[in-house]
Amino acid sequence: MQPGELIASDQGARPVQPSDLTAAWAILAEVMDPEVPVVSVVDLGIVRDLDWQAGHLHVVVTPTYSGCPATEVIEGDIREALEQAGFRAPNLERRLTPAWTTDWISDSGRERLRAYGIAPPEGSTSKRSLLGESPVIVCPQCGSAHTEVLSEFGSTACKALYRCVDCREPFDYFKCI
Ligand SMILES: [Zn+2]
Repeated sequence: MQPGELIASDQGARPVQPSDLTAAWAILAEVMDPEVPVVSVVDLGIVRDLDWQAGHLHVVVTPTYSGCPATEVIEGDIREALEQAGFRAPNLERRLTPAWTTDWISDSGRERLRAYGIAPPEGSTSKRSLLGESPVIVCPQCGSAHTEVLSEFGSTACKALYRCVDCREPFDYFKCI
């Protein structure tokens, strides 16, 4: 799309401003994951791309886990937030390749997970499969590396349930994929 072309908005068609995409990213940075309400869809890395197509905002979304029931909710939240901000009828494209990986979670997203009491994914998926080691999961409460897995499935299929051997607190670990 060229500058000066018209976009659809609640105020009717108007010219595209260079700042519109920045504004759209800022809106999406406030759309939280429904399962972990402290990290946004941008922090999680599931919003892959934003641009203009035929006067409508085009949003590329890669779901975290295929079959994750939250995906439909997330897409609805993204659409609603953009429409409320005046981006009329945004186009959402669900892109499954390349598949989402926990490597795409931003550093600030990892910090927010930890502050929320969820151990963020450790290490990089590619590095770990090369070394064939299981990662050390650090307790988000006390920082101890002395932890044990209680269940491969925590509060959702995307998380595993761990317990800290030192402070005895159970916690969710955001599984690395
Ligand atoms: Zn602990």
